[in-house]
Amino acid sequence: KPKQYRGTELGMILEDVSQAAVRTCETLQKAGHQAWIVGGGVRDLLLKLEPKDFDVATDATPDQVRALFRRSRIIGRRFQIVHVMYGREQIEVSTFRAIQEDAETDEHGRVLRDNVWGTQAEDAARRDFTINALYYDPVADIVLDYHDGVRDLKARTLRMIGDPVTRFREDPVRMLRVARFVAKLGFKIDPATRKPIAELAPLVRNVPSARLFDEMLKLLTSGHAMACLQELRREGLHHGMLPMLDVILEQPDGKSFVSLALERTDERVRADRTISPGFLFATLLWQPVAGRWREGVARGAPAIPALADAIDSVLDEQGNRLAITRRFLADMREIWMMQPRFERRTGRSPWGLVEHLRFRAGYDFLLLRCQSGELPEEIGRWWTDFQGADNEQREALIAEAQ
Ligand code: ATP
Ligand code: MG
Repeated sequence: KPKQYRGTELGMILEDVSQAAVRTCETLQKAGHQAWIVGGGVRDLLLKLEPKDFDVATDATPDQVRALFRRSRIIGRRFQIVHVMYGREQIEVSTFRAIQEDAETDEHGRVLRDNVWGTQAEDAARRDFTINALYYDPVADIVLDYHDGVRDLKARTLRMIGDPVTRFREDPVRMLRVARFVAKLGFKIDPATRKPIAELAPLVRNVPSARLFDEMLKLLTSGHAMACLQELRREGLHHGMLPMLDVILEQPDGKSFVSLALERTDERVRADRTISPGFLFATLLWQPVAGRWREGVARGAPAIPALADAIDSVLDEQGNRLAITRRFLADMREIWMMQPRFERRTGRSPWGLVEHLRFRAGYDFLLLRCQSGELPEEIGRWWTDFQGADNEQREALIAEAQ
């Protein structure tokens, strides 16, 4: 039997709840269905944080949901959910699901399919952490709590629902989620939840790489990227994920290139500005690329082909672990391949570069290289001036750089 609270009694402020989520629940309820806001939205509202997005759980099937909202579509990834659109906002509506008793697993216990529908109680039990399994009905102002999530929220504890070993085996991505939530919320990990992670960490390798990429992207764009990576390392979860993560985190002197980049990303996320995954992954993989590039040049290869070779070899290695989406790979190459051009400040070269469609990204990347001490600060300043200059001043800047 779930515990039941009034939302307001727990400090819930109805004005903070997205109107889109409220309307989604109202519409479903008027059609005779159950509808609850669930997951991160409820958790963050109760913690007085701004939710990233709102998910709704219902007993209606995806087809029934689809039929109730004109601007909606069924998305069929691992399981079918319905996206309901309100202007730019999107509410994810999912049908209550259960962990299938006899679900097919791999030899380590990882569930390969989990798409059977269930009751609300079953839906609560298949969720990862107690604080992520709170249901809120914004119409009736009721919070339902099947797993003492309210208690754990108050104690600021991240606790797995059920037996942690089984739950981590079912889906090793949950270990990465531990790191993300702990870093984001500043919670402590319940000891029983934490204990098996060290031993089970290698199971992350069996997760399909596209899924791993999705979860890494969530982690890196959480607004707490650096804290997440440190937490990953503390739990021994970083091995084989981004091969150079050790190198990144262990840079002793000064600010490393990657920590600068992650700080910048965190600031942008917190200021509600967009971040480009291509840029982000370009920064994460720059150290090995730059290292191999320098080696190539030292062997006598011309700068641009040497860079292209370095990029190919690093991406080849990375690709089978973390399937970076093709679109982002193209952005990364572009940002990297622009870099040698920033060092050629003669003739027509700067004029062409500044007109490049992706100049801004390449330039931001260059600034990080300057700030981290890889290049003289002067080069970054020169490009800042060049961008803002009129034609005459640009000629002067080029003459000065010779
Ligand atoms: P965020 O604010 O970062 O979006 P969230 O808790 O909403 O955090 P999501 O990844 O959006 O995280 O997932 C929504 C909800 O779905 C979670 O709160 C949790 O209840 C459930 N969930 C997501 N991933 C898993 C998983 N791997 N195993 C079990 N439950 C999960
Ligand atoms: Mg969410």
